[in-house]
Amino acid sequence: MVDSFWKSKLTEINEVFSSVKKGTVKKLAISAGGREIRYVEYGEKEDFGRKANYMSACGAGSPIHYANKSDANKPVLLIVGGIHGGELEGIAAVTNLIQVLETGEDFRGKKYDYLYEHADRFRLLVIPCMNPDGRARLPIDTLIDVPEEKFVYYMQGTWKDGTLCRWPDCKAVHPIKEASGFLGSYFNDDGVNMMHDNFFNPMARETSALLGLADEEAPDFTVLLHGGANYNVHMPQIYHLPLWAMERMEAFNQQLDAAYARAGIPYTNIKQIVDDTGKYPFPAINLTSAIHHVSGSLSFTFESNMGLDAPEPKFSPDQILDSHFVLFEEMFRYSMK
Ligand SMILES: [Zn+2]
Repeated sequence: MVDSFWKSKLTEINEVFSSVKKGTVKKLAISAGGREIRYVEYGEKEDFGRKANYMSACGAGSPIHYANKSDANKPVLLIVGGIHGGELEGIAAVTNLIQVLETGEDFRGKKYDYLYEHADRFRLLVIPCMNPDGRARLPIDTLIDVPEEKFVYYMQGTWKDGTLCRWPDCKAVHPIKEASGFLGSYFNDDGVNMMHDNFFNPMARETSALLGLADEEAPDFTVLLHGGANYNVHMPQIYHLPLWAMERMEAFNQQLDAAYARAGIPYTNIKQIVDDTGKYPFPAINLTSAIHHVSGSLSFTFESNMGLDAPEPKFSPDQILDSHFVLFEEMFRYSMK
């Protein structure tokens, strides 16, 4: 039984796009499987006087050559769901966020005065589902009460011999398509896991399109919404970010910790200032850090609870949605400081 507010199907995402009046629906890319990826923008695009790409601007000594922003400019927020197409939590959260930005209420009828009243202080770029191929491959519409083995099957799929392709072994072959039996919802139809694409020569046009959007928009704050297992919501560590960015993400981590405590939602506070210890896991760039490096954006990954039939903490659909709205509100607050 899927709650009616839990809008994560591709058809439901399209219905949400059709209902947009305050924002503008834009086409971002066509997936490997030929599916359209769209997003909603709110607020005018401002001219930041771009003269160089971000990396060259930093090479010249200042990011202002890339984006010359003042306090008068509206912060640009980029919110991305469904990079792993089967991680429905972020998709459902973003469709509900669009509903809030349009009407002030989510699909449960719950009001969010703070988000609704402050939305016009931002330029918002909101992508419900970055990986529609993976979403189309998932035959169910909720992971709530799904047993762990089945969850692994849906997310990472199987190898050719039918054995489960578990995390993190699912990353040991990439693209994975030819090696897989059932291609999990992590991947696009070419078997690319966008989180671990080659960011200097992307395999997936979805990855190129998202990096291109970040490059063009110079977001101040970016979140990639993920989910996996039954754990407290948290921000995993991101490698290869400059110290100034890690320090700001640590400040946001502390802010989130306090906000989740107030909301009574279990949060794990993971230090965002990451040391390279010289040992495994060797630091590598992922999509989150790549977005920082093309745009200077503070960029982080959010990991949601999935409400699986697995040990506690097990969230309900309402708690999952609530946990995302706490995140969105805190992103607003942090960006207005
Ligand atoms: Zn994920």
